[in-house]
Amino acid sequence: MALSPSLAKTEETEIITRFQNYLRIDTVHPTPDYTAAADFIISQAKSISLHLESHSIEFVPGKPVVLLKWIGSDPSLPAILLNSHVDVVPFEEDKWDHPPLGAEIDQDGKIYARGTQDMKSVGMQYLESIRKLIASGFEPVRSVYVTFVPDEEIGGADGVGKFVESETFKSLNIAIVLDEGLPSSSGDSYRVFNGERIPWSLQIKAVGQPGHGAKLYDDSAMENLNKSIESIMRFRASQFDQLKHKECFKGEGDVISVNMVFLKAGTPTPDGFVMNLQPSVAEAGFDIRVPPTADPEALERRLVEEWAPPARNMSLTLWRADQELARNQLVTPIDDSNPWLELLENAVQEAGGNTSKPEIFPASTDSRYFRKAGLLAIGFSPISNTPSLLHDHNEYLGQSEYLKGIDMYVSILKAYTSYISPE
Ligand SMILES: [Zn+2]
Repeated sequence: MALSPSLAKTEETEIITRFQNYLRIDTVHPTPDYTAAADFIISQAKSISLHLESHSIEFVPGKPVVLLKWIGSDPSLPAILLNSHVDVVPFEEDKWDHPPLGAEIDQDGKIYARGTQDMKSVGMQYLESIRKLIASGFEPVRSVYVTFVPDEEIGGADGVGKFVESETFKSLNIAIVLDEGLPSSSGDSYRVFNGERIPWSLQIKAVGQPGHGAKLYDDSAMENLNKSIESIMRFRASQFDQLKHKECFKGEGDVISVNMVFLKAGTPTPDGFVMNLQPSVAEAGFDIRVPPTADPEALERRLVEEWAPPARNMSLTLWRADQELARNQLVTPIDDSNPWLELLENAVQEAGGNTSKPEIFPASTDSRYFRKAGLLAIGFSPISNTPSLLHDHNEYLGQSEYLKGIDMYVSILKAYTSYISPE
């Protein structure tokens, strides 16, 4: 039975209102109100169905992981996990045209708030799709778990990091994890991610002969550091060029990014720096993101030989997030060994969308913890036709995009929960 237009309108208004209510909860770092968010999510679960179990588990005090369970008719089959983080990054309110926690809707139907793209939308879309499926009488074969986790934006160690190590998690028997992706600016196309770049932190330090500011001589710390910076910037340009030249077909996640994040040198005085002294130490720091397809050993050699060569009185401190990870823990396979990608692509198509070729996520998400635990994880945020405004001013999501995204999950969940593997 089709709903009459006015009934459908009321339903849509209620869906949007629930999204607005979630957006208005202050889960902004550094002091996210996780308790309010957990209470809200659990009340949502209760309103969907009494058969939707909800648990709030604190692996770290004050940082609850909310776990919802929609048990399938065959709980022995590996389950589906839908993950989203509850926290959002801070904002500069004076740079916004709408209050960042207001969830105001403009005349074009755009909802403005921190988290509309990253990723309160996705969390609520999971719930709304389950709400729709339960209301329609749909019964899943596989179980579905939905998690709302803290701290993704500050590294996730106390969130998914602790969760995947827990007995609770191990008892869930997960086949596939869906987690966040990125918006697509083109029409009905959605982006899919099967891996992510690995963060490296590099600090380089140059020492050299101190001397009078007026003297020209070789091998000062500043000169030594500057040679390194020039070399690093040439490398940066070579990577950036590959993004700019479309015929290379490289995505943001396929190249190594290097960005200087600090410079430290000089001899301070109470109101500035000593101006006639060349210092004996100079340092710089770099945020580096390495695609799983890059050769980490080659990059490390470059660091030692070109960017911080001992021959130029340089030393380095390097932190790598992937030190003890195997290659298959960095990417989720996209071949026949992983049926879930094709199921997702087909389900999106059935709901009127398209997916683009799987990409490497340019930054980090909680997916890496799931992959590290040996699970398949796909990054997917059903947002098309929208500029990526994650962590940016005036983050927004159009109402119709949000509603369309719910239909995507309805289609995906139908396919995922009914999938029986051939073996
Ligand atoms: Zn996010």
